[in-house]
Amino acid sequence: MDVKLRHIRKEFDRYPALDDVSLDIHSGELIALLGPSGSGKTTLLRLIAGLDFPTEGTILFGGEDASCRTVQERHIGFVFQHYGLFRHMTVLSNVAFGLSVRPRKQRPDKAEIERRARELIDFVQLSDLENRYPHQLSGGQRQRVALARALAIEPTLLLLDEPFGALDAQVRRELRRWLRDIHERTRHTTVFVTHDQEEALELADRVVVMGKGEIEQVGSPDEIYDRPASEFVFRFVGDSSVLDVDVRGGELWFEGTATGLSTGEVPDGPAHLCFRPHDTSLIDSGAGISGIATEIRRIGGIWRATLHAGSGNASVEIDLPDAVRPKRGAQLTFRPRVFQLYPAAQR
Ligand code: ADP
Ligand code: MG
Repeated sequence: MDVKLRHIRKEFDRYPALDDVSLDIHSGELIALLGPSGSGKTTLLRLIAGLDFPTEGTILFGGEDASCRTVQERHIGFVFQHYGLFRHMTVLSNVAFGLSVRPRKQRPDKAEIERRARELIDFVQLSDLENRYPHQLSGGQRQRVALARALAIEPTLLLLDEPFGALDAQVRRELRRWLRDIHERTRHTTVFVTHDQEEALELADRVVVMGKGEIEQVGSPDEIYDRPASEFVFRFVGDSSVLDVDVRGGELWFEGTATGLSTGEVPDGPAHLCFRPHDTSLIDSGAGISGIATEIRRIGGIWRATLHAGSGNASVEIDLPDAVRPKRGAQLTFRPRVFQLYPAAQR
């Protein structure tokens, strides 16, 4: 089912949690809502679900105004961070729940409900655990049960609100791949909320970056990472360093020194230079940006230096080549190989 959001505004006590949000969710896609805490992700999900209503704007389900449909009529499968499994019910009963509470006319018979619940439990790879209770499962297993329960009602739309948020890093990564695999097989239209950019980029067909109740950018993971539409997106997605610079006649200057970087068609004036630590090169001679190494540390397989650049308190991070291990206090000069410039006023 495709879902269209048109100029959605949501106010709580006259303060807008969402402001003029428009978005097309395509049938069969897995879309991630990515943004910091408080950016309005959960609010948007609740509006789509019909658990709450927009102050202004329209939500269309398959082209029809959804405002006249109840939560039940929207046939939405939910998974939240704190699973909300029924504690007194076994895995099997939890998964069967959605079907067993249907009005009599739409309810399959008992044997059929059990058959379908077992099939789903098998699908989420928990077959040998169907008689366990939630407290006898790990966090990751509980979230798999929660997903099976959401799938049982044959949802037209699947909404997942930080479903792996409470789990440790390794389990999160496993479940991410598992969910992607489930999605490839079922192709349910899915909206996945997360504040974890790595999760969004790895999992989603398209990513919606949200900041303060507005959409900052919608695009494929590559578009979001390689061509961030704003400084906000650049800084939120991936590691980033930012410096106050000046553009003069197509050249970049940092604190009165030419950096050797050309800007192309950017108007003269102050700007923010944004780059990623791994997109930098150290240089021995010639123009660049110089700084004093204040910290050098290992991040996984690479070494990263924090540089105090210029006379103010600007600090940037650069990754070091294998053979280079400068001492603290060493002066280093580098140049970003890839960078973006944003207007200074945005920050
Ligand atoms: P996110 O899920 O991105 O962390 P939320 O959608 O939960 O963000 O919240 C967005 C903003 O709306 C926040 O400022 C939050 O305090 C506010 N908000 C959310 N729900 C309510 C509510 N029921 N009453 C008042 N303010 C709310
Ligand atoms: Mg939330």
